[in-house]
Amino acid sequence: MDSKYFKPLNTKTEGVTKRFDLADPEERKEYFSAKAGGAIEDIKKYLAKGTFVAYLLGKKNSGKGTYTKLFMEVVGSDKAAHVSVGDVVRSVEKIFQDSERAKEKEEVMKFLTSHYRGFIPLSEAISALESRSQEKLLPSELILSLLKMELDKQAGKAVFIDGFPRDLDQVSYALFLRDLMGYRYDPDFFVFINIPESVIDERMKYRVVCPSCQTPRNTRLFATKEVGYNAEKEEFYLKCDNPDCKDKGARMVGKEGDSAGIESIRGRLDKDDAVMDKAVGLEGVPKVFLRNSIPAGTAKENVDDYEITPAYSYKLGSDDKSVEVVEDSWVIKDDDGVDSYSLLAPPVAVSLFRQIADILNKFQE
Ligand SMILES: [Zn+2]
Repeated sequence: MDSKYFKPLNTKTEGVTKRFDLADPEERKEYFSAKAGGAIEDIKKYLAKGTFVAYLLGKKNSGKGTYTKLFMEVVGSDKAAHVSVGDVVRSVEKIFQDSERAKEKEEVMKFLTSHYRGFIPLSEAISALESRSQEKLLPSELILSLLKMELDKQAGKAVFIDGFPRDLDQVSYALFLRDLMGYRYDPDFFVFINIPESVIDERMKYRVVCPSCQTPRNTRLFATKEVGYNAEKEEFYLKCDNPDCKDKGARMVGKEGDSAGIESIRGRLDKDDAVMDKAVGLEGVPKVFLRNSIPAGTAKENVDDYEITPAYSYKLGSDDKSVEVVEDSWVIKDDDGVDSYSLLAPPVAVSLFRQIADILNKFQE
């Protein structure tokens, strides 16, 4: 998708000079109110009596869930929800494939029988759900019915829909989804996320997870407090520091397939891009544009340095045992080949809050 739509972020705020630790929830709260306090007040006031439907559009691994999570952190999880179409489909699949969950299956069937509308019979549409094959494509009309079922559970909340529209034929459905879902009088809008492919690539290649508690980290971009060293393999590794982990200090490991990086998901990325290209041309729907990167040349004027993602590398201390963590600035090429920095999620969320507040304020005029 053309980068011309995505203006570089400017989060500089007069009078705000504190260096916030954005990994700390309390400081993050303070940061948000310093940089987007007015917008957040407007959004909260609106959500006290209204809702909205937002469609998250971005390439796979662009951080869609992260931004929604930060939005919920600010307004409260009783006011907003993240609805992942992939998760909804997987959970229904599990119900259909487990003979011990007949009662739940019956309830889903009851809902679908009264809400499904489509070109093929319902029985055929759901046979894809019952078969064990994950790859079988579900008809868009069935996905719409499942989405409606999930949205009914989230009644009264603003929702961020992740994973719809996912294919070109679903883009125009999104135009009328609000009416289909009975959110008739609430605004809906698209949220486009622009992130350089080089960032997605490194996020995948260096992603690790705790084998015990599944906490995700990144050896290069998001380290833990403690780092270990395997002398035999001459390898540094992260140690899980989740306070609730049963196996604290566990060696975090990479996922199979991730080391291949972005090329392993090329087909998906190109499709995501085509969907964004088509959706951006839709008239009559407000649009939010989020940009993860900032040209290195203008970064200093527009953002504070603690808002930029650093890169970590490791070296052995002089005792040959302790590990020193070296923090460096991380320069990447954006998709136009411009030297850039990648922003941390909270400054991008500041931009999200400001743009959503604008849409909601206009809607109320
Ligand atoms: Zn753990």
